Amino acid sequence: MNIQDFIRDNIKALKPYSSARDEYKDATTNMVFLDANENPYNNGVNRYPDPQQSSLKNVLAHQKGISKENILIGNGSDEVLDLIFRVFCEPNRDNVITLPPTYGMYEVLANVNAVEVIKINLSDSFQPKVDDILDSSNQFTKILFLCSPNNPSGNSFNAKEIEKLLINFKGIVVIDEAYIDFSKQQSWLKRLEKFPNLIITQTLSKAYGMAGIRLGICYASKEIILVLNKIKPPYNVNELTQQKALERLSKPDDVTKEIQNILQQRNWLRTKLEKISFVETVYPSDANFVLVKVDNAIKRYDQLIQKGIVIRNRTNQPGCENCLRFTIGTKTENEKLIETLKTLS
Ligand SMILES: *Cc1c(COP(=O)(O)O)cnc(C)c1O
Repeated sequence: MNIQDFIRDNIKALKPYSSARDEYKDATTNMVFLDANENPYNNGVNRYPDPQQSSLKNVLAHQKGISKENILIGNGSDEVLDLIFRVFCEPNRDNVITLPPTYGMYEVLANVNAVEVIKINLSDSFQPKVDDILDSSNQFTKILFLCSPNNPSGNSFNAKEIEKLLINFKGIVVIDEAYIDFSKQQSWLKRLEKFPNLIITQTLSKAYGMAGIRLGICYASKEIILVLNKIKPPYNVNELTQQKALERLSKPDDVTKEIQNILQQRNWLRTKLEKISFVETVYPSDANFVLVKVDNAIKRYDQLIQKGIVIRNRTNQPGCENCLRFTIGTKTENEKLIETLKTLS
């Protein structure tokens, strides 16, 4: 598969904007910077941020055992996903495949970019239907979105089925690993080299506890990263975000501890939820939330709101009738949730 064949012609021809900091970036020497029309008075953020986020990429490359050239950083994974659409999908012509129930942003971004969405629902056990997916794609199908662990079902996709799709799907396969740090399954990062059409997205918004700074990461072949990099806004990741992310990444033990607490709480919550009278199913979860089938999702959702607890009602998603999604909170929050659920009639 030749990736170049999948890149839009206008993107291939595009000459990227060259920012001041792209043209001269040798910040190690004591240079006088009069090139970017910045205010010269130092307040910590008066200079434009590093457009290539070099320090962050060095840390990520080291921690993930991958080359810097395989990394692109975005303003949340949502920006990364949008860049992927814009590189590969010709508006009003191309289409992508999503597997509902899944993350809503794939469809929103498709709509923003005037790209058609082919939806192939997951099976009853929330696994991809490989043959249906491959059968439904055509010459205009450019991207397949696999969210694993999947939001909102919480499960990971079977690795063998993902591999079949990576080998046989004639287009880009995006594996969204927003929840990978909560999963027993291995990241696909280790196998990036093997699949030239694979793009992996991760984020600091969930396990790393940094939804507020907006930092998403994309791993792919150098060829794909080069073209995504070419079209990204030059200063897409701001200075404060880069600093905060570096701080957090320098303390991996803190992150690991929080993940372990969340996983412990997930187990606790599961066992308690299973004992609630109106709970019918607590689905297996590889993420920091659980999907729960109840007797009447709208009723239970409203009751919880009345008690000051906000959860997500997923009843309108395919395969999720009467399902609620509970994010794992702190011990105190989870206890409050269970105590409240017990009082509902
Ligand atoms: C929360 C979530 C993200 C995170 O997006 P950011 O823009 O990085 O905050 C990505 N994908 C899925 C499936 C999610 O649930």
